[in-house]
Amino acid sequence: MAETAGEAKAEVKQASKEVKESENVAEKYSAMTVSKNSEINMGELSSAFSAVPTHKPVKKQIQFVEEKQEFSRFPTKTGRRSLSRSISQSSTDSYSSAASYTDSSDDETSPRDKTQVNSKGSSDFCVKNIKQAEFGRREIEIAEQDMSALISLRKRAQSEKPLAGAKIVGCTHITAQTAVLIETLVALGAQCRWTACNIYSTQNEVAAALAERGVSVFAWKGESEDDFWWCIDCCVNTEGWQPNMILDDGGDLTHWVYKKYPNVFKKIRGIVEESVTGVHRLYQLSKAGKLCVPAMNVNDSVTKQKFDNLYCCRESILDGLKRTTDVMFGGKQVVVCGYGEVGKGCSAALKALGAVVYVTEIDPICALQACMDGFRVVKLNEVIRLVDVIITCTGNKNVVTRDQLDRMKNGCIVCNMGHSNTEIDVASLRTPELTWERVRSQVDHVIWPDGKRVILLAEGRLLNLSCSTVPTFVLSITATTQALALIELYNAPDGRYKQDVYLLPKKMDEYVASLHLATFDAHLTELTDEQAKYLGLNKNGPFKPNYYRY
Ligand code: NAD
Repeated sequence: MAETAGEAKAEVKQASKEVKESENVAEKYSAMTVSKNSEINMGELSSAFSAVPTHKPVKKQIQFVEEKQEFSRFPTKTGRRSLSRSISQSSTDSYSSAASYTDSSDDETSPRDKTQVNSKGSSDFCVKNIKQAEFGRREIEIAEQDMSALISLRKRAQSEKPLAGAKIVGCTHITAQTAVLIETLVALGAQCRWTACNIYSTQNEVAAALAERGVSVFAWKGESEDDFWWCIDCCVNTEGWQPNMILDDGGDLTHWVYKKYPNVFKKIRGIVEESVTGVHRLYQLSKAGKLCVPAMNVNDSVTKQKFDNLYCCRESILDGLKRTTDVMFGGKQVVVCGYGEVGKGCSAALKALGAVVYVTEIDPICALQACMDGFRVVKLNEVIRLVDVIITCTGNKNVVTRDQLDRMKNGCIVCNMGHSNTEIDVASLRTPELTWERVRSQVDHVIWPDGKRVILLAEGRLLNLSCSTVPTFVLSITATTQALALIELYNAPDGRYKQDVYLLPKKMDEYVASLHLATFDAHLTELTDEQAKYLGLNKNGPFKPNYYRY
C-alpha cells in the first residue's frame, strides 16, 4: 500500500510502465469491431487489456477459512432438510424474480432426488424443474433487450471464437442476465458448467432454460448449505471434463477448487472474480504466496464499482423493500449503515422518496460526504429506538448486534444490502425466547416475549438479490467486463500475466462504458490534436490516470 505521496507516485509510474510493456502485445482480434457505434475495436481492446497488477492492500481481514461444512455426498432427505434453512422448506416461489409466475410449484422434492432429462437427452444438470425452460427462455430474451453491448460482443466475436477450448466453471447469481453472459461465452466457443453463488437468488426457470440449451447448471432457489457445496462440486468434479477458467462471485468456487482439487487449480489459466469478498480472498492467497494462477479483479473496475454498486442499489433497494413489506417511504426514518457506493445509492433513493435518512460511518471522508449530501451522520445507538428501517451496506460484520435488535421499535424493518449474511447478527436471534414467523417468502417476523416484532428480510442476506430484480442494464456493464476479462486471460500470451491479482486497466473500463453509450444515443466529444497535446493524452484514451476517482 502506498503510504506516502512518493510511494504512490512510484506505484503509478510502475503501473504505467507495465501498461506500456503490454501495449506492445500483438492485437489478436483486430478485425472485430464490437459495436458499430463504437470507435473502439477488439484490436484496441487487446492493448486496452494490458492489465496492471494492483498489489492492492487488503484492508479488511476477511478470513480464507474452512468455512461451512462440506456437503454430504449421499445424505438422506431428512439429513439434507436438517441442514436446510427455513426458506428452503417453505415456498420455493421465485418471489424475487420478475418471472414469479413461472415458479409457483408446490413440489417440495429436492432437485437432487429427481431424474430430469432435457430434450436432447442430457441429464448433466440439476435444476428445480426442467419443464420451466420455455418460461426461462422468455426471461432471457427480455434481458437480452437491455444487454445490447454484450449481445453485440457476441455477434461480432462469435466467428472468431476467442474462447474456443475454454472450459469455464462459473459460480454467480443465476438470473436471466447471467444467462445472457453464459450464452455469450458459449457462443464465443467456451464450454460452461455453472452453479449459484447464493442459495436464494437463482431464477429456477432461467436455470432450466440454460440446462435445456445444454449448459450444465447445478442450482435452484432455496438450496440448503449442503446443496450449495454439492452443486459446486458437481460443476468441478465430473468425468472427462476439467475446467481451465474460473468465473467466480464471492470466492467460494475458487476456494473449493483450491482446497479440494489442487491439481485442477494449478492448471487454471485464469480466475475472474467479481465480488469484494472474493477479491479479498484472492489477495490473501496472493499475499501468502499460494496463488498459482493469474486473476482479474473485476470488482474494483470503475464500471463495476460506480455502476453496479451505486446505480444498481439505488434502484433495487426500493424494489426489495416494497415487494417484501409494502412500506411507504415518505416520512419514514431510515438509517443506512455505511456510506460507500452502496450506501450512497440507498440513501439517495430513500431521500428522493421523502424518507428521513440517517447515515452511520467509520470513515471521516465518507461521513463528510454524507453530511455534504444532506444526511445526519449518527451512531447507530443514537437512533436505534426511533428508526423504522435499518439498512446495512458496510461489507463488515456484526454491524447490527443482538443488543441493538433488542432495542428496536415494534415493526422495525431490518435488511442488508452489503456483504453476504454477516452484517446483521441473525444467529443471535435464533434463541428460544424469540419466535420466528414466516409471513411471506423472504420475510420473517421475529417476535420478542412482550410482543414486539422486528421484520427481518432475507434472513440478513442481500435484500436486492434475494427479494427484488436488479436493473438489467447495469448487469450488462458488469457482464461485458467479465466476458472481456475471460477473453483476455484465456488468450493472453505466456508471461503477460503472472501469478497475481490484476486490475482491469482504465482503457478497458472506458471501452466497456463506450459500448453502452450507444443505448442512450450519447455522443462523445473528441479531443482536438491541440487539446490532446495540452492534456498529454492519447486521443483514444485512456482519458484518466489510474488514480483518478470518479
Ligand atoms: P465501500 O467500501 O465503498 O463502502 C462501505 C462503507 O462502509 C465504507 O465507507 C466503510 O467506511 C463503511 N463501514 C465499514 N464498517 C462500518 C461500520 N461498522 N459502521 C458504519 N460504516 C462502516 O463498499 P461498497 O461498494 O459500498 O460495498 C459495500 C458492500 O456491499 C460490499 O460488501 C459489497 O460486496 C456489497 N455490494 C452489494 C451489492 C448489492 O447488490 N446489494 C452491490 C455491490 C456491492
